[in-house]
Amino acid sequence: MYEVFRHWDTSTVGLVNGLLQDAGVRTVLRNWDACNITEIPIPAIYPNVCVLRKEDSDRAKDIISAFLKSSATTGEPWICHECGEQVESNFLECWQCSTVKG
Ligand SMILES: [Zn+2]
Repeated sequence: MYEVFRHWDTSTVGLVNGLLQDAGVRTVLRNWDACNITEIPIPAIYPNVCVLRKEDSDRAKDIISAFLKSSATTGEPWICHECGEQVESNFLECWQCSTVKG
């Protein structure tokens, strides 16, 4: 297995995993539950996405960098449909009530 993406936030890791699977890349999630064990973020146990085949890793990294670029440049804040709070575009979850952007 080849790790291609690691992040403290499971919703971001899940999103990346979904993008890769949509592109036909076979992936495995690691440390998916470990991050809930402690309140203190420990990078070594951050959830991460791995590809099964080495030949997929370059393509996976291209997809991920395109995703990171697009999420960094879509500057529009969004409105949480749960609590109505305005949330900055770089957050995938409402900071107020943790509802995932939908
Ligand atoms: Zn909210």
